[in-house]
Amino acid sequence: MHDFKELLDNFEAFRRETYEGNGALMPKLVEQGQDPDYFIISCIDSRSNPGTIFRAPPGTFFAHKAMGAIVRPYQKGRALSAALQFAIKYNNVSKIIVLGHTQCGAIQALVESIDDEEISSFIDVAKGGFEKAKACCADETQHDDLFRHTEEQIILQSTENLKTYPAVKEALAAGKLKIMSWLFNMEEGAIYNHDETIDDFVKISPQDSPV
Ligand SMILES: [Zn+2]
Repeated sequence: MHDFKELLDNFEAFRRETYEGNGALMPKLVEQGQDPDYFIISCIDSRSNPGTIFRAPPGTFFAHKAMGAIVRPYQKGRALSAALQFAIKYNNVSKIIVLGHTQCGAIQALVESIDDEEISSFIDVAKGGFEKAKACCADETQHDDLFRHTEEQIILQSTENLKTYPAVKEALAAGKLKIMSWLFNMEEGAIYNHDETIDDFVKISPQDSPV
């Protein structure tokens, strides 16, 4: 059973590590302000939190979370459009990562047509990705393959939808922004990057430096 003590103990460890001693990071970031390189869009899943899996020090990235890391097409006044505007236009973020993951509850809800209007009305925009996955898995009977393809297709669809946001469109046109589509394979403990040249997801490691 997790309780608040565990959170506060870990916060205390974080505080000691980042506030105390010479070269402590947080006082510097507070004084000088933040200058993150990345904007990461990830799922709400408790196992795929980018701050945890990338062991990111404070100041590394802006974060936006949504079920399935799903990005709906641009609409003014939404949380994501304001966040992207803030990060790209006013903080010069030059790299966006759309980070999906395997065993995603949102993808399962989509594949199994969940009977919950609150959830389905958000994830329904990813149906196109599911249809594409079904088409490409037509000769495969494996349930797992369909899931995997759906996870991949929905990441790609989110990446495409991202390009409809004004701040993103403008920065891409100016050659100032790179968008990466990544899948965190939780069973394997691996990151897969969508390689546009072969239109496939390829496992990456630090040596590959895909950005
Ligand atoms: Zn998920």
